[in-house]
Amino acid sequence: MKQVHGACPHDCPDTCAWQVTVDDSGRAVQLKGADGHPYTQGALCAKLKRYTERVYSPERVLYPHKRTGAKGSGEFKRISWDEAISEMVTRLKDSIARHGPLTAMPCNFAGTIGVLQRYAGDQFFARLGATDLDKQICGNVAYNAVASTIGAGPVLLPEDLEHSRLILIWGTNTVATNVHLWGGAIAKARKRGAQVVVIDPVRTPTAAHADWHVQLKPATDAALALGMMHVIVRDGLHDADYIARHTLGFEALCERLKEFPPSRVADITGLDVADIEKLAHQYASARPAALRLMVGMERYSNGSLGFRAVACLPALTGAWRELGGGICHFTGDLFHAALDYGAVLAPRDTPAPARSVHLAQLGRALTDPGMAPPITWMLVYNLNPVVTLPNQNLVIEGLKREDLFTVVHEQFMTDTAHYADIVLPATTQYEQWELMGSWGQTYLAINPPAIAPLGEAVANSELFRRLSRALGFSEAHLHWQDEERIRRLLASGHPYLDGITFESLMDSGWAKLALPADWRPRAEGGFTTASGKCEFYSEALAAAGHDPLPNYTPLPDTTPGTDTLPLRLVSAKTSHFLNSGYVNLPHAGTRKHRPEIQLHPADATRRAIASGDRVRMFNTLGAVEAVARVSEDTAAGVVYLPFNWWPSSTLNGSSANALTPDGLSDLNFGSNAFDARVEVERV
Ligand code: SF4
Repeated sequence: MKQVHGACPHDCPDTCAWQVTVDDSGRAVQLKGADGHPYTQGALCAKLKRYTERVYSPERVLYPHKRTGAKGSGEFKRISWDEAISEMVTRLKDSIARHGPLTAMPCNFAGTIGVLQRYAGDQFFARLGATDLDKQICGNVAYNAVASTIGAGPVLLPEDLEHSRLILIWGTNTVATNVHLWGGAIAKARKRGAQVVVIDPVRTPTAAHADWHVQLKPATDAALALGMMHVIVRDGLHDADYIARHTLGFEALCERLKEFPPSRVADITGLDVADIEKLAHQYASARPAALRLMVGMERYSNGSLGFRAVACLPALTGAWRELGGGICHFTGDLFHAALDYGAVLAPRDTPAPARSVHLAQLGRALTDPGMAPPITWMLVYNLNPVVTLPNQNLVIEGLKREDLFTVVHEQFMTDTAHYADIVLPATTQYEQWELMGSWGQTYLAINPPAIAPLGEAVANSELFRRLSRALGFSEAHLHWQDEERIRRLLASGHPYLDGITFESLMDSGWAKLALPADWRPRAEGGFTTASGKCEFYSEALAAAGHDPLPNYTPLPDTTPGTDTLPLRLVSAKTSHFLNSGYVNLPHAGTRKHRPEIQLHPADATRRAIASGDRVRMFNTLGAVEAVARVSEDTAAGVVYLPFNWWPSSTLNGSSANALTPDGLSDLNFGSNAFDARVEVERV
């Protein structure tokens, strides 16, 4: 038996370090959280309890396959790697000869989120001069909107939430998606008497466990934040000294706040005036007071405005002064500062991509007859676009195009892989090198392979080395081995890596970034905006033609691609799955759980729907049939269906994204998928 250090590869803020036990035959037999890791605390989440079973699942794709039936039929035959690479290269050269290099495109995101395997194709596609994929579909809107107010970079660290006296968890289901924060720093803070308030349109498990659930209408977050600021300023609860020294545009903000008295905010949000007043007082009076944000407000056409308004709150009350006060958000900037990303990204002198396609609009790009040149060669990795992208039916229509050559590099035969011309076997985290930064905590972890690759599976990095070789690309960086890349990533000389080397990581498995002990990055201002202040008023936004002040705009009554149906669809993550991962496995997928369309009793009664009825939820984009669950956990006027069920797991072969529009959102141009309106009927 041997123990091998590693870390969870999933797109999750916890980035747990783990230990794999491997027996003498080279088979992984046990997985557990890394002993002594302060964040992981020796435990993995429920999703990972059967990761070993997932690795050895008989349903793994272990060999290259070529399509033999119609696209979508799922009919394939096994071929060799040589045949697969040869066909990929032949088709690529042919496509480029006819249309130029922009006809090729990667289709990837965060299926495995380590530094090495996530960015494995970036240098290759830059060398090719391919169409770029704009991936602002998750996280970027939240990040950019907060940054437009306080600047990029350091935020309140998750571990420092233990010092908070009040934690407002705003639009994120921490119990399901950030379990170590809930069981770690937040639990410690509660033991010391901290109050936890959850602001969410759905009574999630986190809301159910909170001291107070503020159940506002979807996409009205900006109005609530503006209403809170109105009360705080009106009642003199703001920090005049902090505002004077470290903020820009307070007078202009006060003018804007006059438009958001609690009575108007109550109309917009559906909350009581008394609750808005109470929330504002509670937030401004608690010391330290923390806001826990993730991405829940995104994917509405007013999503940026929500984050921007909320991000103003801690500067208004001076909450940044204390350890445990401020905004607890993404920590990824710390790793981007610490590591030398030149080891994985395109060289600096690479010309900018001549064209990009927005990930949220993949279906449009693949079906637009005016797209010149058309996308005719696409390599999908780290992504299951049929499940996770908006306007599912259009994505499928695009993937069905006979003149589109699609390769899917995957661990399982996903609903996307069914549309591939070639399916390639991908390694799991047990079988590959990885260096894990984190977007939700401050520990770096190394992941050497614990076992040999199963079958003929290869890591993303090896796939792109093979393709580079086959195409005759001679640039050295395209052929760097994984261990060499990790050494290069760690050779930045940045002070956050003091005392951390390849060898020390191989020895311990993980290390905390060398951050200063007293981490209050905005206690004395230090905002990284153009003005160096927290920008209630943003010149940059004004120059870009946007409202320079925080504001609330209602969702449009009619969103192109959907229509004026009466119910709002809320589609979030669940604790059973990680995005679309695990859905197909027996322990957590369709063979045990089933998709449920959850609606409020008032909406159900009006439609003569009872729990257990088969229902059809529809709009002009598509329809989903599943079983109804009637519950007050969902606000009236809101229907809830997790977005990660595969189409093949519902009763009619369509899942939540069959109903989501593929427009773009405000300010930072993410997706507006959650603007979706729907109707539900019994079938
Ligand atoms: S999914 Fe998240 S919580 Fe679960 S083991 Fe992975 S990193 Fe940890």
